[in-house]
Amino acid sequence: MIKLHDKFFKPYLKEEQILAAIDKMAKEIAEDYKDETPLFVGVLNGAFMFVSDFLKAYQHPCEVSFVRLSSYQGLTSTGIVETLLDVPEEMEGKSVIILEDVVDTGRTLKQLVHLFSNTNVKEFKIGTLFYKSDVYNGEYSIDYVGLEIPDHFIVGYGLDYNELGRNLREVYQLNQTDMINLVLFGKPGAGKGTQAGFLKEKYNLKHISTGDVFRYNIKNGTELGNLAKSYIDKGDLVPDEVTIDMLKAEVEKNPDAAGFIFDGFPRTAAQAEALDNFLESKDMKVNATIALEAEDDILVARLLERGKSSGRSDDQDESKIRNRFDEYNEKTAPLKAYYEEQGKFHSVNGIGEIDEITERLSKVIDSL
Ligand code: AMP
Repeated sequence: MIKLHDKFFKPYLKEEQILAAIDKMAKEIAEDYKDETPLFVGVLNGAFMFVSDFLKAYQHPCEVSFVRLSSYQGLTSTGIVETLLDVPEEMEGKSVIILEDVVDTGRTLKQLVHLFSNTNVKEFKIGTLFYKSDVYNGEYSIDYVGLEIPDHFIVGYGLDYNELGRNLREVYQLNQTDMINLVLFGKPGAGKGTQAGFLKEKYNLKHISTGDVFRYNIKNGTELGNLAKSYIDKGDLVPDEVTIDMLKAEVEKNPDAAGFIFDGFPRTAAQAEALDNFLESKDMKVNATIALEAEDDILVARLLERGKSSGRSDDQDESKIRNRFDEYNEKTAPLKAYYEEQGKFHSVNGIGEIDEITERLSKVIDSL
């Protein structure tokens, strides 16, 4: 394990594996281009080491040049791609092969394709050493791939975490084993949101409330908000597909979180399975599911009280509240068995003073 800035990284790919992948790429490209003189364009900074080893493996006539783009800041792809070093001159009639260190969402590629769009090249191909197929948007075809890898944050062999780690000969992956991911479980009104507010401060976690994200979207009139509104107004659940995609996007926005509190998600068996699969793909997992227990009559009274100040339409009408309980009993309650089977289910009395309840929850979290 190595430490760069504040984070730990564990070994992921050995030098031999990387070099073997590069060798394979060089052979594939040679098959297509050995009879001409292609121009390889490396994408700085990340690809400098790859381009160097690639050229050692590609022993046929060729030219080399570089462009420089910058998109990563810390662990998160900001979506802003700046051009720092422009396309080489004199490309007319040449076959250009881009050499990227890693393709993930595809945003950098878009900028690259744009950069070369006004040039008179003969052919334009894209090669990448690492390819995160799970997150790639698929806009352009990738012509040559070294290694397909899952969507883990990696450093080394040219890739950095806030500029550190580029000189490592091997590739390392962010270590997620210290992460705490909690599911707060319970009927509407059980106090999940209130408690998540305290727990996120105490344990430095990112709180994701699917209800809050929906309400934010409704307020801002987004497409997602308009879609969710009709369901929420009736107290029905929003369809799984929509909710799962939204949840994934929220997690993706926080790649450097020390952990997450999922509040109001999962609410169905399909969501619980999707969450497990999604987290596994990122080398993460649910550590515990904690249910806040309280009787229906108390919850109805709490919600009607909340409805007076929150303005939430689904909190102001007892029949809508009862419908939300029905949805819970039918679709969400069975998840107790799902998490019990995994040995992750914990139950906490949700009646009492707020700080008493936080204390009960903390006891469970501290025991993990
Ligand atoms: P909440 O704020 O958690 O009580 O959620 C308010 C409403 O948002 C729910 O009654 C549902 O209509 C919708 N909603 C929130 N989370 C989910 C979810 N995981 N699956 C489906 N619908 C959800």
